[in-house]
Amino acid sequence: MSEAAGALGILGGTFDPLHVGHLRLAIEAREALGLAEVCFVPAGNPALRDPPRAAAPVRLAMVERALASLPGCSADPAEVQAATANPAPSYTVDTLLRLRAQHGPQRALVLLLGADAFARLESWHRWRELFGLAHIAVATRPGHELKVGAGDTALDAEFRARTGAAADLSAAPAGRIVPFAITALEISATAIRERLARGLSVRHLVPDPVLDYIETHQLYRTPHGH
Ligand code: ATP
Repeated sequence: MSEAAGALGILGGTFDPLHVGHLRLAIEAREALGLAEVCFVPAGNPALRDPPRAAAPVRLAMVERALASLPGCSADPAEVQAATANPAPSYTVDTLLRLRAQHGPQRALVLLLGADAFARLESWHRWRELFGLAHIAVATRPGHELKVGAGDTALDAEFRARTGAAADLSAAPAGRIVPFAITALEISATAIRERLARGLSVRHLVPDPVLDYIETHQLYRTPHGH
């Protein structure tokens, strides 16, 4: 990838299933932060949470279908492919090391996180290394504001030292923390799975290609298993 390539947003997640909150996050991040592209990275074996309901290739298939008609967004299958061979947890630091090697030392990489995820960053594997590998853009929305920066934790100190604005993202390949506001959509994959298990509609909470896939494969029909 050339040095001139614009900033690349990275949206990791379980996507169990992908929903329109994820799509709006990517669209609004692209606009607010001036990103050239947003790369969705479905986790193979997510760390720090219960195992996903749908198998990794199924979650990837839903992401690919949802992004097929969304300009400037792509799906990265690497973690899902690795997970089929290896049950070890996938960590964001490893994702960023891989993407940094793939895109070269100069390209601005921007890890997109919700404010809740950012507030828990200190529990992540090798979290301090993340700042050397990418910028972090923190999406805030009403009810999910940023509550970091005023305290005396290591994360508060990093936030105070690194906080910046969207314009800073293209000035360096990594190292800034940039909050940005997005439209509030109170949608979660958990709530979607619960609706499906109760036989309720999730139309317009997930994009139509994802709904078709869920119905065709009869996913999430029971509270346990699929
Ligand atoms: P679950 O309910 O299973 O925990 P989720 O809906 O939070 O899932 P994830 O795949 O864990 O989905 O989320 C991936 C990323 O998308 C995270 O950074 C999360 O903060 C963000 N995100 C999830 N839902 C929304 C939403 N409604 N609006 C904005 N961002 C969201």
